[in-house]
Amino acid sequence: MRRALLAHYDAHRREMPWRGETDPYRIWVSEVMLQQTRVETVRERWGPFLARFPSVRALASASEHGVLKAWEGLGYYGRARNLRRAARELESFHAGRLPGTVDALRALPGFGAYTAAAVASIAFGAPVAVVDGNVVRVVARLLDEDRDPARAPVRARLEGVAQALLDPARPGDWNQAVMDLGATLCSPRAPQCLVCPLASACAAHAAGREERVPRRRRKKAVPHHTIAAALVWRDGEVLVGRRPSDGLLGGLWEFPGGKVEPDETLAQACAREVREETGLDVEVVELFRTVEHAYTHFSITLHVFHARPRGGRLRGEGVEDLRFVPLSELAALAFPRANRRVLDDLVAAGPPAYATAPVARRGRP
Ligand code: SF4
Repeated sequence: MRRALLAHYDAHRREMPWRGETDPYRIWVSEVMLQQTRVETVRERWGPFLARFPSVRALASASEHGVLKAWEGLGYYGRARNLRRAARELESFHAGRLPGTVDALRALPGFGAYTAAAVASIAFGAPVAVVDGNVVRVVARLLDEDRDPARAPVRARLEGVAQALLDPARPGDWNQAVMDLGATLCSPRAPQCLVCPLASACAAHAAGREERVPRRRRKKAVPHHTIAAALVWRDGEVLVGRRPSDGLLGGLWEFPGGKVEPDETLAQACAREVREETGLDVEVVELFRTVEHAYTHFSITLHVFHARPRGGRLRGEGVEDLRFVPLSELAALAFPRANRRVLDDLVAAGPPAYATAPVARRGRP
């Protein structure tokens, strides 16, 4: 099996910019990006990220905002914050070098079982199997294991077999070969067993059950939220707040807003959210854009209105920073993707005529 799969990998592996890379730092960055992001996206983003932060030292000395900005659009921003935190630890305690064992790697921020095994095996040749969703599927099919792989004993069995199968001479290539097989021929639906190098050893294929193994979980319904947010204008500048570092989309900037309650109109919700979040009373002038966006565990419809202040005092609530920023400078801030789409449209459309008009009532907040 090892010979067959590695020969197939050598001949047909998916070409990616980080394949053949030997620098542990660059391998680490690729593996962190690949955890939650599609390969096609990582292909485009890996090189530019490394051009900006070419070494552990460069990453360690960057500001959190600078790293988040370079990560913009990749999602799961906790990964970017952990990358930077781990780089700082490497600089402080490991002379700027990644350690080569799973245990030492797992002591660093952001290193779970997958990342530690991937970096240890690919960068340092450590004989440890990587187990991700693709590997689980391939191994479950090889064993014709049709129980739920999320159950602990089943997962333990699959991990044990994955480790036993690992090629000790080429552990990094073996891990990548199994993951590649799961991402290509051994796909969740309609696996291409006729051209699979492991077909003769595959119990699910022999039993004709490859499409039924492993057992799939019924997907939970994804909640949907309706959000109202505001482009609050003052003297040609727009109000933006920075989310707390330690939550969802932590450290990113966004336009003030929040969930619409059942008994509110969109405009009412927009004004209430702005008041609660910023202390400002605003006049909601007109709808600018509506954007649909899906996160992993929920989806949103984001309605963004133009608004102008009528009174109140600017004070942030639930944000780490709150400020009016010229439109020309907003592009330099890191935004979540839905806000970024609004911002791109705003830059193209330009500010409304009243964006620079003097504040009408109760003076300037
Ligand atoms: S034979 Fe089919 S089910 Fe078995 S590992 Fe290969 S592609 Fe997957």
